[in-house]
Amino acid sequence: MRIAMISEHASPLAALGGEDAGGQNTHVAELSAALAEDGHDVRVYTRRDAVDLPETVRLRDGVTVVHVPAGPAEPIPKDELLPYMRDFGEWLAGQWRRGDWAPAVAHAHFWMSGLAAIAAARQTDVPVVQTYHALGTVKRRHQGAMDTSPPRRIGYERALGRAVDRVVAQSQDEVRELLDLGVPRARLVVVPSGVNDAAFTPEGPAVERDPDRPRILSVGRLVARKGFQDVISAMRLVPDAECVVVGGPPPGRLADDPQARWLRALAEQCQVANRVHLVGAVPREEMPRWYRSADVLAAAPWYEPFGLTPLEAMACGVPVVGTGVGGLNDTVVDGLTGDLVAPRDPRALGIALRRLLGDRVRRFAYATAALDRARQCYTWKRAAAQLGAVYVAVSQVRHPTEVVA
Ligand code: UDP
Repeated sequence: MRIAMISEHASPLAALGGEDAGGQNTHVAELSAALAEDGHDVRVYTRRDAVDLPETVRLRDGVTVVHVPAGPAEPIPKDELLPYMRDFGEWLAGQWRRGDWAPAVAHAHFWMSGLAAIAAARQTDVPVVQTYHALGTVKRRHQGAMDTSPPRRIGYERALGRAVDRVVAQSQDEVRELLDLGVPRARLVVVPSGVNDAAFTPEGPAVERDPDRPRILSVGRLVARKGFQDVISAMRLVPDAECVVVGGPPPGRLADDPQARWLRALAEQCQVANRVHLVGAVPREEMPRWYRSADVLAAAPWYEPFGLTPLEAMACGVPVVGTGVGGLNDTVVDGLTGDLVAPRDPRALGIALRRLLGDRVRRFAYATAALDRARQCYTWKRAAAQLGAVYVAVSQVRHPTEVVA
């Protein structure tokens, strides 16, 4: 089946760790690869954000990335991309109408991609599947005045939920949020993200570390809601351990990064600076080596639509101490594959980390169960099979006589 993935700001080719490059990029890359593995023909449409990008890039057999001209060919923060979505949609419609390749289904990632997909689909009669990845209502609730999303985001998200053929929720928490938003229940399916269980494995090379000092790893974009500040504050309660933070700008630019400077100042203030190391962005293919070097992953977001990093750690046989929010409530089984504590509570986080680092047997049991859970429940192969069935269902409703598989 021909599948169009629309991912306006998150290119599967981008370097990860920066403010707008993280889980969605990984998700689109891995899902597309898994669908191609199942024999599908996938095109990923993402905004052209540099003049020297080729129009198309072949990512692997069955997956081509297409750079869509919409807005200036330069990096633009995602919260400023809305005005270009009409052009994005028009360009897609033109391609699908006149070009030699038209999709059987379009799968939009993030709300702005949804707008572009709907604009194109209306002219071409292509069914649209929507994954939000993050919701404006949740962001507004947690970030209040600091939320820089366009003011009409929530209204658009609500309208999208009614305009598309299916909405994919990634966790039970997201299902509740989507129902509250007004998405019809009959239009919802739950398909969690996956983890690449060929790359993220317990066996394999690990980054060098001090064998005598327990290592707590924390991974993600250096944005406030990821809670790195809470992990750093918690280090006061875990006196012997070191904390390694992966993510943010490339290592060479860490010194000038406001968020990194703020975290370093906090570490000084908490008198843990000698045990906290900010590494900066690490290429995706090197991530398994970092997880393998850790005794535990600390994931302390204030909220989290899904959260790939706990799953990646679990697939490497690393237990998780996390906050019981969003997707973590589904992926991490409290007391079995890790421990969950309340968000924004460095004390509870510190106590949980100290207890787990002091208990070898418990760590081993968690690690074994975590690995098992990641492999059994969260492979991309599984996600691709479930979504493949969704794509078939929506295209058969629209075009009942066509052979779509
Ligand atoms: N990541 C990476 N290099 C980094 C930091 C993060 O490759 O330096 C990857 C990480 O392995 C994961 C993704 O970026 O696949 C982050 O996804 P997550 O769902 O945890 O967070 P999001 O960015 O969606 O908020």
